[in-house]
Amino acid sequence: MNAAASLAYRVALSDHPRSADQRAAILAGELGFGKHFTDHMVAIQWDKATGWHDAQVCAYGPLALDPAAAVLHYGQEIFEGIKAYRHADGSIWTFRPDANGARLQRSAARLALPQLPVAEFTESLRQLVAVDHAWVPSAPESSLYFRPFMIATEAFLGVRPAQGAAYYVIASPAGAYFAKGVAPVSIWLSEDFARAAKGGTGAAKCGGNYAASLLPQQDAYAQGCSQVLFLDPVEGKYIEELGGMNVFLVCRDGRIVTPALSGSILEGITRASILQLARDRGMTVEERKVSIDEWKSGVASGEITEVFACGTAAVVTPIGALKGKDFAVGDINAPAGEVTMALRRELTDIQYGRMPDRHGWMVKLA
Ligand SMILES: *Cc1c(COP(=O)(O)O)cnc(C)c1O
Repeated sequence: MNAAASLAYRVALSDHPRSADQRAAILAGELGFGKHFTDHMVAIQWDKATGWHDAQVCAYGPLALDPAAAVLHYGQEIFEGIKAYRHADGSIWTFRPDANGARLQRSAARLALPQLPVAEFTESLRQLVAVDHAWVPSAPESSLYFRPFMIATEAFLGVRPAQGAAYYVIASPAGAYFAKGVAPVSIWLSEDFARAAKGGTGAAKCGGNYAASLLPQQDAYAQGCSQVLFLDPVEGKYIEELGGMNVFLVCRDGRIVTPALSGSILEGITRASILQLARDRGMTVEERKVSIDEWKSGVASGEITEVFACGTAAVVTPIGALKGKDFAVGDINAPAGEVTMALRRELTDIQYGRMPDRHGWMVKLA
């Protein structure tokens, strides 16, 4: 059972919030992703002696960190990504916050950071929306993207888990990820680099995994691709995931396949939700090892009819083509697959309140 949230918040409103006109101009423009931020943020402190304390909603702004803070030296940092959706009646909802809160706890355990109670995680989103609700956009497929994160703040260069940490939530209004309609992307297969190791931090949502994915990501851009596909770090034979999204294959016979959680794959909440929606449709769902050869030969033979990636930011992204050093499969100009688009539609219909929430995934924030 989750205990109820009990931290008392101090609310200190910004003395320089954007005016209603400034905000309206931002929300009406090209929002993009992660470019604009709301007027406030949440901050909660932790130290080993007192535990979680000093919860506050304050003006969005720079953090004061000691230059010896452990996060700057040893990378003790974790984060989450979760959205608020405005429904047609103006109410504001989020999607499966318990799952994100529980994942933040698992990430914290792996990075030797303190665990924030799940109820406090959800409460932190509620507190931020209470002051910044006007920043939740209402244009189709737009949302307010929350970025909760935790850092080790103790000023100490000795190598051990920090005894001081802080948790923050910032929020960014986000436009439709595909401004011109959902279009297939091409993916670059990273054959030289891994994002995670056996026994490493691949299953934790930590900045370090992203740092390791940026060089191969640069290779992808150089090859005209937008994302990187990583293989398992042991044999280099099985597909794992993209730098920040999980992967699914749809087969001609109606099966839907995704790599089984291996210890180095991040357990996406979108992934889990897609698996459920696919089961609901009566599809045969397989979580198992998928070799890169199965992908290549399946797409070439027509056995695999659709491939897509999924994650909170872009929801579901069709993958048109896969390229590697000496091969290319798929057709980037083919339209997005039917199953891909139906699953995307269903998930977003639930999130935006256009369809009954039959699994109890939605939680009202305001
Ligand atoms: C966040 C993330 C995902 C997607 O997780 P969601 O909960 O669906 O947003 C997938 N892979 C990696 C590496 C991630 O960091």
